[in-house]
Amino acid sequence: MAKDKKLIIGNWKMNLSVHDASLYLHTLSERVKSHRSVEVVIAPTTLALQTLSLQVNLRQFKLSAQNFYWRDSGAYTGEVSATQLRGIVSYGLVGHSERRYVFHDTDKDIRYKVQAAIRNGMRPVLCIGETAGERAMGETFDVLHDQLLTGLANVTSDELDQVVIAYEPVWAIGTGDNALPGDVTQAVTAIRRQLKHLYGAKVADDVQVLYGGSVTASSAADYLAIEGVDGLLVGGASLKADEFSTIIEKAFESTKKKA
Ligand code: PEP
Repeated sequence: MAKDKKLIIGNWKMNLSVHDASLYLHTLSERVKSHRSVEVVIAPTTLALQTLSLQVNLRQFKLSAQNFYWRDSGAYTGEVSATQLRGIVSYGLVGHSERRYVFHDTDKDIRYKVQAAIRNGMRPVLCIGETAGERAMGETFDVLHDQLLTGLANVTSDELDQVVIAYEPVWAIGTGDNALPGDVTQAVTAIRRQLKHLYGAKVADDVQVLYGGSVTASSAADYLAIEGVDGLLVGGASLKADEFSTIIEKAFESTKKKA
C-alpha cells in the first residue's frame, strides 16, 4: 500500500454480536466517507468476519482478523487459521497486548503468526509496546527492540512491505491514559531506526508504522501529525460511529496538509 496513505484500524475486540456487528457496519458505511488517501480497516470478532465480508464494500472498508493460529490446518481444536481466513480478511492483528498478556501468546507464536499471515496473503499488523512496569524501569526501547526483532525474525526484505507495525504502549490501551506525542515520536523513531538497521533504508522507509492507545477524536490529529506515524489503531473509540468517522476525517485532513 502506498506510504502516503493513512491507515486507520478499528479493533472492536470481543464486542457486538454478529447481528449487532452487521448493523454497526451498516451505520459506519453511511457515516464514513471514502477517501483515496485513507485506508479504513475493521477488526470485528472472528465470528462476524464471514457475514461482514459478504456485506462490506471493500472500496470503503477492509477487514482484519483480531487473531488466528499460525498452523494452516490440523488438530487444533477451537482455533482458526490464517489459511481459513484467506479471501475474508486483508489484515490480521498479531501480538496485540491483550493476546500477549491475557492469552500468553509467546514470541514464537507471534513470529509464526507474522509468517502465517504473509504466507496466506494477509498483512500482519505487528503490535509492540512496553508495559507500565517496563516504562518505569526505563526499558521501553529495549522492549521495542526485542519485540520487533523476534516478530520479524523470519521476514525477508521482499516481504517487509506486507507488514504494518503498531506502536501500542500497553499502559495506554483501554485506559484513557494517552502517550504524549513526544514519547510516541521517540518510540517511532527508534522503531524506524531498527527497521533501517535490519533491512536497509530503502525498504524500511516504506513500512507503515501506526500508533495505538486510547486514541479519541480529539487526540487523533496530534498523533497523525507526528513524523513517521502513518495511521492509528483504535479500540474503544472505534465502537462509536461519530467518533470513529471523525478520526477518519482527521486522517484525511492530515493527508491534505502534507500534499
Ligand atoms: C487497541 O485495542 O489496540 C487499542 C489501542 O485500544 P484503545 O484505543 O481502546 O486503547
